[in-house]
Amino acid sequence: MIISGKVKICGIIGDPIEHTMSPAMHNAAFDKLGLDYVFVPFLVKKEGLRQAIDGVRGLNIRGLGVTIPHKVAVMQYLDQVDDLAQKIGAVNIIVNDNGILTGYNTDAGGFLRALLERGIEPKGKMVAILGAGGASRAISFVLAERGANLIILNRTWDKAIELAERVSRSFGNKIEALPLDKENLTKALGRADIMMNCTNVGMHPHVSETLVTADQLKSDMIVFDTVYNPIKTQLLKEAEKAGATTISGVEMLVWQGVLAFEMWTHHKAPVEVMREAVIKMLQK
Ligand code: NAP
Repeated sequence: MIISGKVKICGIIGDPIEHTMSPAMHNAAFDKLGLDYVFVPFLVKKEGLRQAIDGVRGLNIRGLGVTIPHKVAVMQYLDQVDDLAQKIGAVNIIVNDNGILTGYNTDAGGFLRALLERGIEPKGKMVAILGAGGASRAISFVLAERGANLIILNRTWDKAIELAERVSRSFGNKIEALPLDKENLTKALGRADIMMNCTNVGMHPHVSETLVTADQLKSDMIVFDTVYNPIKTQLLKEAEKAGATTISGVEMLVWQGVLAFEMWTHHKAPVEVMREAVIKMLQK
């Protein structure tokens, strides 16, 4: 790779950051389109966040991805935050337009795109969402905005209630919030068209763990795991056993990257190249 004097810099901030897929995904895309851009990971500690964002302005960095633990805290340092990201209360992408920093949430948009690309329209569907953390928040808001009915189940019940109230206030949908136990889960899955795993359960290295087994699932369901490492989680294996349609977290990861790429470069993203780069990293 030759870096010219006109190169535009994008990156991702987080702590830890060494496992990020974003540099591989975006650099492969820049390379494919011959764009004079480079993407780098930045390890940014909580206490260094303000300086990091000042640095984006000072160094004229074109765009940033934002990951754990900065998605909420970073909002206070930006010039503007788009409406959906504001409602969600978290930003995962920053675009720098001549020193004006705008925050977006492409986790939400990327998730929706992953569904729509598979021909699944969430409007009017019943969705059981497991988890009430950052991923669940983005997904719950975008599903509610799109007209889905939600049951949010979380180990810490209070967090599910708080999220359900927040989503209802924004969109007026009726959202149920339940403690995540076997009985509630089985009942909710019995009513659901789509199941979303938005917990960490099943994530590398705990790859044999799952909150749901095949006997709780139906063949006409869609099971979407936000976990992307491993690509095929134990949950997705159980869903396959039940004959359900499965979608891997890789799709959400790739589509959120596609949306970010297009905001930063104003070029149509090479989706297949980005997907291949992520899968190659995950198979290492
Ligand atoms: P987070 O904010 O820390 O939330 C974690 C959630 O998982 C909480 O609801 C937590 O419940 C629940 N949880 C953790 N361990 C559990 C267990 N043993 N049993 C039941 N529930 C458990 O994390 P996040 O950012 O939302 O990330 C959640 C998952 O989404 C991760 O696997 C992440 O990789 C994935 N993700 C994927 C993408 C993508 O592009 N594919 C994007 C973002 C996130 P409590 O509230 O009770 O602690």
